[in-house]
Amino acid sequence: MDRNEAVLRELNLYPQWQLRVPVVAQLRVAQAMPVVTQVAEPVSVTPVLVRPPAWPELKQKVHDCTDCNLHATGSPTMFGSGDEAADWLFIAGAPGAEEEKLCLPFAGFAGKLLDNMLSAIKLGRGKNVYLTHLVKCGPPGEREPKSVELAACLPYLQSQIELLNPKLIITLGQTAACALLGVEQPLDTLRGKLHDYRGISLLCTYHPADLLQRPLDKAKAWQDLRLAVQTVASVTV
Ligand code: SF4
Repeated sequence: MDRNEAVLRELNLYPQWQLRVPVVAQLRVAQAMPVVTQVAEPVSVTPVLVRPPAWPELKQKVHDCTDCNLHATGSPTMFGSGDEAADWLFIAGAPGAEEEKLCLPFAGFAGKLLDNMLSAIKLGRGKNVYLTHLVKCGPPGEREPKSVELAACLPYLQSQIELLNPKLIITLGQTAACALLGVEQPLDTLRGKLHDYRGISLLCTYHPADLLQRPLDKAKAWQDLRLAVQTVASVTV
């Protein structure tokens, strides 16, 4: 049994998913999330484009941030990690307690499952992949982030997206999908098709932690990953 077969077996996806090629219509959804733009001082009639801060400066800003109440939890900020030139950007809602304890995005059993999902499509942490969250500080009790917290933290994520300029964004879980698309719909209606986020293809799928709770959804997650591979392969720079 080769490595891929082993991974697919672990995901309960072998062999029925080997020959499937999903045909998925593209759906372009206008994002309703507030657009945060940096506006230059009106010193000239010529528009001034403000670039996002470079990675080190951005990391420092997040580290020092007190822009919402989540800074008071005392938990370490979770900036994100991976290949800073990655084509693939994965975004989940908020760091959980185990991630904060280990200072590692997507830790524990959910992280192991994510690693296996990445391996199944010949990717890995730091290998053309960047992982991050909507909010960089974990809400207490692993509750969902509030809208005011999402709004406060969104500029950091947008700077990360601008710096990465990925070929594909994959949201993991309900919170990330709805926040980035600016909709309130069940994840089941958002997944399985392509959306647009500021000119970048965006695909929604399940959070690995949810897949551990609902293993039957692994097949749909695998379908999403197959679409993701096709999408990245079709993007020309
Ligand atoms: S969640 Fe984001 S906005 Fe809020 S304190 Fe942490 S880094 Fe700042």
